[in-house]
Amino acid sequence: MLVERNGCRVEVITADITTLTLDAIVNAANESLLGGGGVDGAIHRKAGPELLDECRSIGGCPTGEARITFGYKLPARRVIHTVGPVWRGGQRGEDEALASAYRASFALARQNGVSSLAFPAISTGVYGFPKERAARIAVSQAFAAADEGDFSLILLCCFSREDALLYAQALEGR
Ligand code: ADP
Repeated sequence: MLVERNGCRVEVITADITTLTLDAIVNAANESLLGGGGVDGAIHRKAGPELLDECRSIGGCPTGEARITFGYKLPARRVIHTVGPVWRGGQRGEDEALASAYRASFALARQNGVSSLAFPAISTGVYGFPKERAARIAVSQAFAAADEGDFSLILLCCFSREDALLYAQALEGR
């Protein structure tokens, strides 16, 4: 599923995000930035130990914010680490925190000349955010970023076909 918006391609794909050759990939990190499971673990494994060294020097990242590093052994030049919210039932500002994680990632991308980037399905793994709801937020933030300009390619990179279907439905619904 693919939408062209303001000269920017917004696309849902099914892939291992660590294999993508882009200006940047986004990591669904935790506040420590010291690595974890899921996509975070996969990114650190592929990038090698230098990524952890750089993350350590940053000293953490609050929920809803983002930090940028190099990509080291990854094919992507940079990694934008963002921290999505842990789902606590939906009344604790989770929607806004997830939107903020996307916005902060796009802002950092823009500041660093990143024009092509991929996001994993932030917060929908161990953080438990409902997937359809997360997909709608991801798509609306991707479109807002495309509309503001400076991006050529925004990939919403799902790890399973089922997730990709949900994100594609959100993309189609716009
Ligand atoms: P969070 O803590 O933000 O929920 P997770 O890493 O647990 O982060 O999950 C976020 C999403 O990333 C999930 O949909 C999971 O299936 C997906 N994921 C896990 N590994 C990869 C990978 N290598 N590439 C892309 N997505 C991945």
